[in-house]
Amino acid sequence: MVSKIPNSGTSIFTIMSQMSAEHGAINLAQGFPDFELDPQLLDLVAHYVKKGANQYAPMAGLPALQKGIAAMVMDCYERPVTTASITITSGATEALYAAITAVVNLGDEVLVLDPSYDSYRPAIQLNGGIPISIPLEGTDFHMPWEAIRKAINSKTKLMVINTPHNPTGTTLSKNDFEELNRLMKEHPNLYLISDEVYEHIVYDGNTHWTAHWLDCAAKRVCVTNSFGKTFHATGWKMGYAIAGEHWTNEIRKIHQFLTFSVNTPIQHALADYLSEAERYTNIGKDYQLRRDAFVKAIEGSRFTLLPCQGTYFQLLSYKKIADKNDKEMAEWLTVEHQIASIPISVFYDEPTDVSLLRFCFAKNVTTIQDAGKILCKI
Ligand code: PMP
Ligand code: GLN
Repeated sequence: MVSKIPNSGTSIFTIMSQMSAEHGAINLAQGFPDFELDPQLLDLVAHYVKKGANQYAPMAGLPALQKGIAAMVMDCYERPVTTASITITSGATEALYAAITAVVNLGDEVLVLDPSYDSYRPAIQLNGGIPISIPLEGTDFHMPWEAIRKAINSKTKLMVINTPHNPTGTTLSKNDFEELNRLMKEHPNLYLISDEVYEHIVYDGNTHWTAHWLDCAAKRVCVTNSFGKTFHATGWKMGYAIAGEHWTNEIRKIHQFLTFSVNTPIQHALADYLSEAERYTNIGKDYQLRRDAFVKAIEGSRFTLLPCQGTYFQLLSYKKIADKNDKEMAEWLTVEHQIASIPISVFYDEPTDVSLLRFCFAKNVTTIQDAGKILCKI
């Protein structure tokens, strides 16, 4: 069989999690929380399982959950979205795959900003599209607006952005947002996927500049989100796509044949759970405490911190410590010091090593402090 994605192997998240387990390391590599979910959410799931909500859900999602999401979008961004524009998917991963599949045809070019989340490029290639990788610029990984403008041509169909950004922890600024709005106006045939799975995890009182606010949002924008990230349940694989109704119709056709529908009792539980806004508005505050605990725990270490404006990832530079490449460094830390992280070079198409590792601080404060003790000794 000829592979359609010959350059894709086992994901770095799987590799590092396995290595971490083998060496009894603290796993700050793959992005998942090590603390329990809100017991009220667990009780709701148990309630619906016992009540018998165990058969197929409606293909596009449970109406009550779609309504809950629409209310949340209204509450957070004052944007009215209809339930006909929301599709519940198996994680944001499926939302991304379906949204990409819906718009990308053979030979279409898709702009991807590196470092980028690992699922974008394979999804583009599996649809016959051509990923055009443009690096984020500078040591602060800012948006490369000039390079983006230069890259757009008659074959450019779609751009994928991600804010708050995995793996760098940066967020789109107000200026970036305005620039993006202008760019979308200049290119009326360009589609945009805005991957906003960390939408509620933004720090220091900053605004999450969402693609929901773009002037073309109703027609050419798809926002992808993840309940796994928002409610600390990555294993549930519950996400959704919000797109214009025309794009949504195509997303649903694809979703229909990828999974058909997703977990019924969890959809019921989430629909009820969304009724209290603090459940999603407090998430950023909680993670900010964990981010600050991580920063404090590595005070005095030889690693250099990069600013973290959102997500639950912290980048650390090890330039002062070793001249290994980042994969070797991540492996060395896991095997010799029992602390696992993710090397940043894997998020690039072109070989790029900026001597940075990504550490996930979605952890109990004791885990964070134990990790800090190890990192301070290196
Ligand atoms: N996009 C980004 C930027 C991510 O970090 C992740 C991983 N959580 C996903 C998409 C996929 O989300 P999910 O686990 O809901 O499929
Ligand atoms: N999104 C998670 C991360 O960035 C990993 C998801 C996965 O393992 N596929 O760490």
